[in-house]
Amino acid sequence: MNAAMELVFGRDPGFLPRALHTTAAVGLRYLFFAGVAWLLAYKLLGRRWLHRKIIPRLPGSSDIRREIAYSALTLVIFGIVGAATISAARHGWTRMYWRVSDHGWGWFAGSIVASIFLHDTYFYWTHRCMHHRWLFPLFHRVHHLSNNPSPWAAYAFAPAEAVVEAGIFPLTAMLLPIHPLAFALFMLWQIVFNVAGHTGFEFHPTWLMRSPLRYLLNTPTNHVMHHEKMRGNYGLYFNLWDRWMGTNHADYEARFMEVTSRPRRSDPA
Ligand SMILES: [Zn+2]
Ligand SMILES: [Zn+2]
Repeated sequence: MNAAMELVFGRDPGFLPRALHTTAAVGLRYLFFAGVAWLLAYKLLGRRWLHRKIIPRLPGSSDIRREIAYSALTLVIFGIVGAATISAARHGWTRMYWRVSDHGWGWFAGSIVASIFLHDTYFYWTHRCMHHRWLFPLFHRVHHLSNNPSPWAAYAFAPAEAVVEAGIFPLTAMLLPIHPLAFALFMLWQIVFNVAGHTGFEFHPTWLMRSPLRYLLNTPTNHVMHHEKMRGNYGLYFNLWDRWMGTNHADYEARFMEVTSRPRRSDPA
């Protein structure tokens, strides 16, 4: 058991080096994915995709500096909570396991899907709570300073919200038997979806909103409207909770159709 754990995690370096290592890992992941999205959407392909910019103007440089500064703080908090989760796993206080053969490849894949649905539910309800007027100023106001978000807003949270968001690490490890590699793939999905939702461009095809997939998949239009209007569209990966709870913005589907039906143009707004 310990040999398998050490094969996955390596020898225990102590809490502080572990926290630094985890911060560096989540930081590099954020820099890579937000950086690639920024380069593609705002530098390389932006002109060709201007018609798909949900809010047809670019975020200001002071907004981007603020988003990066708060994200840097979030990364440190994610590093500390991540290291604490790994420490808990080392002590056997979580349901994390080390040998894929313990539960097979079927559950390995199933645990990724289960953790994504768990996170979607956790995010929706914590997000709605943080919109309560008593909690909003301390927890969620910083994220809503971006009313025209860029990919760098993906982790732009106040420290209190960063702690809430990081809560999904121990929650997943406590509730689900999950292999660290499956957890890493879940985190990969998380950053890709999160960055895509904040980049500000709608890349889904028009037919999505005419298909049953609209009930399942959330879109960048949905989350950008949340930043723009403050109310409604609280979901993360899926559009299930917003539909069940009647919290989709009334104009969501019409806005998606409007954005995805615009003719292509090359002149800047
Ligand atoms: Zn919000
Ligand atoms: Zn957001």
